[in-house]
Amino acid sequence: MELVNTKEMFKKAHKEGYAIGAFNIDNFETCEAVLKAAQLEKSPVIIAVSEGARNFIGHHNVRPMVESLAKQLNIPIALHLDHGKSIETCKECIDQGYTSVMIDASHLPIEENIRITKQVVEYAHPRGVSVEAELGVISGIEDELIVSDKYGKFTHPSDVERFVKETNCDSLAIAIGTAHGAHKFKPGQKPMLRFDILEEIRELLPEFPLVLHGASSVPQELVETINKYGGNMEAAIGIPEELLRKAIKLGVNKINVGTDIRVAYLAGFRKALHEKPHLFDLKAFVSPAKEEVTKLVSYKISNIFGSSQKA
Ligand SMILES: [Zn+2]
Repeated sequence: MELVNTKEMFKKAHKEGYAIGAFNIDNFETCEAVLKAAQLEKSPVIIAVSEGARNFIGHHNVRPMVESLAKQLNIPIALHLDHGKSIETCKECIDQGYTSVMIDASHLPIEENIRITKQVVEYAHPRGVSVEAELGVISGIEDELIVSDKYGKFTHPSDVERFVKETNCDSLAIAIGTAHGAHKFKPGQKPMLRFDILEEIRELLPEFPLVLHGASSVPQELVETINKYGGNMEAAIGIPEELLRKAIKLGVNKINVGTDIRVAYLAGFRKALHEKPHLFDLKAFVSPAKEEVTKLVSYKISNIFGSSQKA
């Protein structure tokens, strides 16, 4: 199937109360493994490419790679730039055939964020490309020290309404306590999200697609496999699945998964290296790694996001 933007995907997801997974890929193999799971589950899917992954794969290779894999499948697939840092990068990706881009100017004052996001939207929309923006700080637990009011560093609901209206963006990443990376909470700390903020935003914008970043669950059995076979991922803690299910029930329509893809791949890879020390055929290690990714993505789609059979 042709690659699509996220407009119809989100509309249907919102109406039927599920979330679309945006899975970060780093190479051909992870892309193939994610798409295989989405096809098995008959689910719409977003292939997310960070600037780092884009450099790693090679700028000009991304669209042809995803396109050639997508052509053989019959599910809606969007190719999305994750955390575009500048207007220029977003424009470049739009010109290269991405169907969705994220402009992340959330570290700047809101007026600047609005101005930059608006410019990307003005370039993207006439070309049929969706735009995601970000408001609030999605980071690690360490940064939770600055608290000026009850919203702290999280997304202020009143800002959201103005931001969406002024920028005309298609979806918005909000900060309600998720964090990027594999160490989202400290050991012993009870994982929580600010559902009160999510509810307030939902009341102001009942129809608008909201996005959760940094939403990997960091499955402990995968971390254990990595550590058992020579890895050293200490105290890696993610967002519990029940919290994600609740967020979806409260209206989140896109959930980003980066860390878990890497953790799954690495678990499969390390285990295979250990079990087959006599082999030097790469396929013997890459295939089980890919299988772990497909298994993980399948599980998330069917058991957390609820997008199975929605293609
Ligand atoms: Zn993110």
